[in-house]
Amino acid sequence: MGPPGAGKGTQGELLARRLGIPRYSTGDILRQALRDRTPMGLEAQRYMHEGALVPDDLILGIIAEALANEESEAGFLLDGFPRTVGQAEGLNVLLAETGQELDAIVDLSVPDAEIMKRLSTRGRKDDLQETIRRRLQVYEAKQKPLLDWYAKSGVRVVSVLGVGDIDDIQARILEQLAL
Ligand code: AMP
Repeated sequence: MGPPGAGKGTQGELLARRLGIPRYSTGDILRQALRDRTPMGLEAQRYMHEGALVPDDLILGIIAEALANEESEAGFLLDGFPRTVGQAEGLNVLLAETGQELDAIVDLSVPDAEIMKRLSTRGRKDDLQETIRRRLQVYEAKQKPLLDWYAKSGVRVVSVLGVGDIDDIQARILEQLAL
């Protein structure tokens, strides 16, 4: 977990590669669906362009498909999901079906000013100033209740500062996860 621009994709890719498990990024999957102009991509489009969250049922459909992959049996990394308590509850239902459990949540934190700086140079369609601000607000509003919810349900949450050199940040994550 982490705000837009925190480096979830970069760090998630490194970690998944190291662990030899698939990484599922709901943001990447939605962007691909949009490029392919699938019904799902087209439905998600208006939310994404506004910096709003895509409805939970659509997102949970993506995750259900991902977890049903044979490759996911030995573990998986979820990037940018869950983002709401509803999604977390939906994930629990799916995990109960596969008999799997979450090992840990990595919470990547980055100060807002740094995020604005990073995203305004990234050049993605939803990286306009106004949309970035909206995405940060959405993140702030949902993330605290979600982390509290996970803490209460006993899932390990590790917080890592996502500022600095990419390799240093990865090293911090590995250390926190005791990997
Ligand atoms: P990301 O690449 O993770 O920053 O996601 C880009 C956009 O995709 C977000 O601003 C949302 O509109 C949408 N999105 C990605 N993941 C989720 C999710 N788990 N729940 C709702 N919307 C999502």
